[in-house]
Amino acid sequence: MYTLYFVVGSQDLYGDECLRQVAADAQRMTAFFNEQFGKDVQVKLLPTVVNSATCIADLRQVSCDDDCIGVMTWMHTFSPAKMWIKGLQELRKPLLHLHTQANEKLPYDSIDMDFMNLNQAAHGDREYGFILSRMRIPHQVVAGYYEHKDVLERIKQFIDVARAIHFSKHLKVASFGNNMREVAVTDGDRVESQIRYGWECNYFAVGDLVATINKVTEAEIDAKMAEYTSKYTMKTSNVAAVREQAKYEVGLEKFMSLRGIQAFADTFQDLHGFKQLPGIAAQNLMGKGIGFGPEGDYKISALSAVLMKMAEGRPGATGFIEDYTYDLTSGQELELASHMLEVPVAFAATKPEIDVLPLGIGGKEDPARLIFDGVQGDGIQVTMVDMGTHFRLICADIELVKQPQPMPKLPVARIMYRHKPNFSIGTEGWCLAGGAHHSVVSTALTREDIALFARLTGTELICIGDDTTPECLAKLALIK
Ligand code: MN
Repeated sequence: MYTLYFVVGSQDLYGDECLRQVAADAQRMTAFFNEQFGKDVQVKLLPTVVNSATCIADLRQVSCDDDCIGVMTWMHTFSPAKMWIKGLQELRKPLLHLHTQANEKLPYDSIDMDFMNLNQAAHGDREYGFILSRMRIPHQVVAGYYEHKDVLERIKQFIDVARAIHFSKHLKVASFGNNMREVAVTDGDRVESQIRYGWECNYFAVGDLVATINKVTEAEIDAKMAEYTSKYTMKTSNVAAVREQAKYEVGLEKFMSLRGIQAFADTFQDLHGFKQLPGIAAQNLMGKGIGFGPEGDYKISALSAVLMKMAEGRPGATGFIEDYTYDLTSGQELELASHMLEVPVAFAATKPEIDVLPLGIGGKEDPARLIFDGVQGDGIQVTMVDMGTHFRLICADIELVKQPQPMPKLPVARIMYRHKPNFSIGTEGWCLAGGAHHSVVSTALTREDIALFARLTGTELICIGDDTTPECLAKLALIK
């Protein structure tokens, strides 16, 4: 169970009675937060900050607790912000500044100086906001009465993003094979990825993975086949080819779980010892939250795992996809996104069918894969590129739509979407921003989620959507 710490600020100027009330209010609020968010996190209250020493002790505890995803802070009274400097210097977790009050309404009939001194977030949170800004600490601010639905929803959003950052900081990514020869956008600075996002990206020899795969037993393959047939429709009669994929998946799962790896990248240029490209094996693993990147794309593998973690518990689909081809009918432009095989099963609008069909690339045997039509609804498309000096996130609003006509000869799963605000601005913006052909599409996450992730990780973000104009594109073209 994850922990979200709650730290309340005050000072010892007001006397014990005031501090007792601050502590009592903080406990009552903590109990309320646990009622609201108990499924996701345990909210734990730390001692009220009354001086620099208590602040240092609290924020050290936050930083050193490995189960902690973040900290929520609020100034019940005025809390002189120099008391917070050294504690904040110790903070290594996402920070939410909750700008609220213990009381919703002003007690107009009874308010006196004592009440006003006790309940002065309007005063204390401004002092605190200054020091966060002065220290350039990336953080989120949520303002409003803490019991209000909109405030609770935004705290929940912080929890989802902080959980994803926590996951990111612990993420290990396996690269089987290197980056695909000559491909630029899939490559990147793995040292910087680890410094900024925590991703431990390491290379593993394909031969070592194949050795694990070759030790998979018939009984293990039987169990995996039972999983496949319970979830999917077996369309093919070539069961041997599906069993080959089942063997790959069991082997991959073993290899990764032994090493605590939760995302992987492969490349079809380096699959010695595989008879088929991993198809259903990769698709079914993605369905369990395992990140995947083809062509050696470690960034999209890691980012897909992180965004799947962010979307956990929300309705909708999240997963890796590749931009493929367009329908350019004027005014009705659509994109068809897919991959050679590895389309996440999360995107299935129909029960996936297992089929074995030829693949015109890679020089291997016909691979088994899951085929289905994609989900519909509003969504986002997110990618990450390495600009040399920094990483850049690009987030485009899209609308996933039903494919207008059947595609009986296309032997892969696919999704289709409409760009916003329209085809030309949407795709021109993506190209100007340097957006990759690999991305994560989600109908569970929003631009605001990605913006918060970008802010808390200090990542550049370019957004494209209904608010993007030709003037925006002109400015975008000038960004260095
Ligand atoms: Mn690709």
